Amino acid sequence: MICTIPARAAHRCNPPRQREASHPIRRSLLIETRLAIVTGASRGLGRSIASRLAADGMHVMAIARSADPLQSLVEEITAAGGTAEFRVCDIGEANALGELIEEISETAGRLDVLVNNAGITRDGLLMRMSDEDFDDVVNVNLRSTFVACRAAARPMMKGRYGRIVNIGSVSGVTGNPGQANYAAAKAGMIGLTKTVAKELGGKGITANVVAPGFIKTDMTEAMVPLLEQEMVKRISTRRLGEPSDISAAVAFLASEEASYVTGQVLVVDGGLAL
Ligand code: NAP
Repeated sequence: MICTIPARAAHRCNPPRQREASHPIRRSLLIETRLAIVTGASRGLGRSIASRLAADGMHVMAIARSADPLQSLVEEITAAGGTAEFRVCDIGEANALGELIEEISETAGRLDVLVNNAGITRDGLLMRMSDEDFDDVVNVNLRSTFVACRAAARPMMKGRYGRIVNIGSVSGVTGNPGQANYAAAKAGMIGLTKTVAKELGGKGITANVVAPGFIKTDMTEAMVPLLEQEMVKRISTRRLGEPSDISAAVAFLASEEASYVTGQVLVVDGGLAL
C-alpha cells in the first residue's frame, strides 16, 4: 500500500495555509514504515522525542501551535536522513486534536505510535489558584490526552498494533506544592492510561506513561539558579535531566520490543522521587 499525507491535511481549526503544514515529503510511505504522532514537538521534550523516533525509522507527524519551529524540526530530521511532517493545532480547542488525528490516520491508512507530550503549567498555591488556571491545565494536559487516545484507538485497532506513550510527571505521582492543577492532570493521565491499556491490550495496543522529573527545557528555565542547586541535591544522580533522557525511555515504550509492557508508569527522574 502506498500512502501519502497531503499538505491539505492541516487541521481545519487552522485553515490550510502553506505555513501551517509541511509539504508532503516526496515519498511512498512504505507499509513497513511506522507512523508516529508527537504533540508538543516544537521544542523541549517533544522535539527530542520526535527526532529520536525519526532516527529509529518512524515517519513522524509533529504537532504544536508554532509553525516555524516545527518547520525547522522537519528540516533537521530530513537532513539527518529521516522523514517527518508537521501540522499546526491548538490541542486545547475542543476536539481539534481528535479530528486531526482521525484525518492523519485516514489519509495515511495507519497509525502506529501516539505520544501525548504537549503540556502547560500555571503554578500557584491552592488557595490562590483560579478556576481558569485549573481548567486550562487540565484541558491541555489531560483532556487532550483523552481526546487523542480515543481518536487513535480505531486506526490502531484496525492495524492490530499501537504504542501510546503519555508524558506525565513525577508531580502526578507524588503531588507537588503549587501544582494542584498540574498534579491532578498528570495523576488523571495515569488512570486514563491504565484504562486504555486494559481496554485495548487485546488488540496489540500498549499504553504507558513516562513521568519525567526535572528536565532542562523552556518549562523549567525560569527556575532561579539557587533553586536549581537545591533541586540537584535532592536528585540521586546529582544532575538535572536532559531531553534525551526522556526520549530514550519513550523510544523503548514506542518500540516493537515493548509489546509486553503496558499500563505502567516509568518514572525518569534521576531518583528525585525516591
Ligand atoms: P515546553 O518546553 O514548555 O514545551 C511544551 C510543548 O507543548 C511545546 O512544543 C508547545 O508548543 C506545546 N504546547 C503547549 N500548549 C499547546 C497547545 N495548546 N496546543 C498544542 N501544543 C501545545 O515543555 P517540556 O518541558 O518540553 O514538557 C513537555 C511535557 O513534559 C509536558 O507534558 C510536561 O508537563 C512534561 N514534563 C516536563 C518536565 C520538565 O522538567 N521539563 C517534567 C515533568 C513533565 P507551542 O507553544 O508551539 O504550541
